[in-house]
Amino acid sequence: MQLNETTAVLESPRDAANEAAPAKPLAWFDGRLVATDSPQAPLTTHAMHYGTGVFEGIKSYATPDGGAAVFRLPEHMERMRKGAQLLGIDFDPARASDAILRTLRANGHRDAYIRPLAWLGSGTIGLDVAPLTQHYMVVTQAAAVHLAGNAARLGVSGWRRNPATSLPPLKLCGGYINSVLAKREAKQRGFDEALFVDGDGFVVECTGANVFMVKNGSITAARHPDALDGITRATLVELTGAHSRPVSLDELKEADEVFVCGTAAEVAPIAALEDVEFGDNPTTREFQALYARVVRGAVPQYERWLTAV
Ligand code: PMP
Repeated sequence: MQLNETTAVLESPRDAANEAAPAKPLAWFDGRLVATDSPQAPLTTHAMHYGTGVFEGIKSYATPDGGAAVFRLPEHMERMRKGAQLLGIDFDPARASDAILRTLRANGHRDAYIRPLAWLGSGTIGLDVAPLTQHYMVVTQAAAVHLAGNAARLGVSGWRRNPATSLPPLKLCGGYINSVLAKREAKQRGFDEALFVDGDGFVVECTGANVFMVKNGSITAARHPDALDGITRATLVELTGAHSRPVSLDELKEADEVFVCGTAAEVAPIAALEDVEFGDNPTTREFQALYARVVRGAVPQYERWLTAV
């Protein structure tokens, strides 16, 4: 789902930024910190059988004051709350946020990828979820800083994105089967990542990132009702003044630059879309650098997006 495996690591402050890490990583699980590798979920877990869970992908970054901060935590919690509500899972954003901060502190993580997950557990093997137990976990993983890496090659997926009329574009676990199929197909075809296009030829999104293009100096964020309302996308629209509108595949192929963005991918330049090659992506590199400064609290105007760990 992330593009970062295609991105060369030029600088890794992991050791300096995450030096206080305990020998064994800890995870939050139903109200307490436990060893991440201790088995916890029973085999009857409903979410394992039917994908009845909701998750987030969040990042924290080391800040110039020697601390760390989570980027746009309330927005991630609000999106997760919406998904939980659909599944009938009780979700308190304040308590869920607190668990995230505690887990980061316990693991000594500053530059980190954060994965909270709320899911339905045991009680029935049927599809009426009312009797099921509800659970919440958080794991955090030290994340290296990726700068100016290799650009990814995009293949157009033969799969359609889950239509919003069937499955709302939220981070519902089961919905990601659609992304997994598209990613597998793209890899088998020799691409790094898949681009979903709808039946009318409009760009939806990638398997775990939203799509932008640059043409004659103007920046456009592809908008589609079936795409996840990305928090990085909203951030970049605000930072760059990008225009948000529907974009066709034909128009995307004519762009000067294409990039994709997401919490994990950050701002990732695209080298090629099927047989169309793009150049050096200079505007994308500029946005990449700007985004890197904003998430680390180096731009005072946007410090409001940071929650101190
Ligand atoms: N689309 C999909 C399908 C995703 O999984 C993600 C990653 N959460 C994104 C877009 C980007 O969203 P965000 O910027 O909020 O991480």
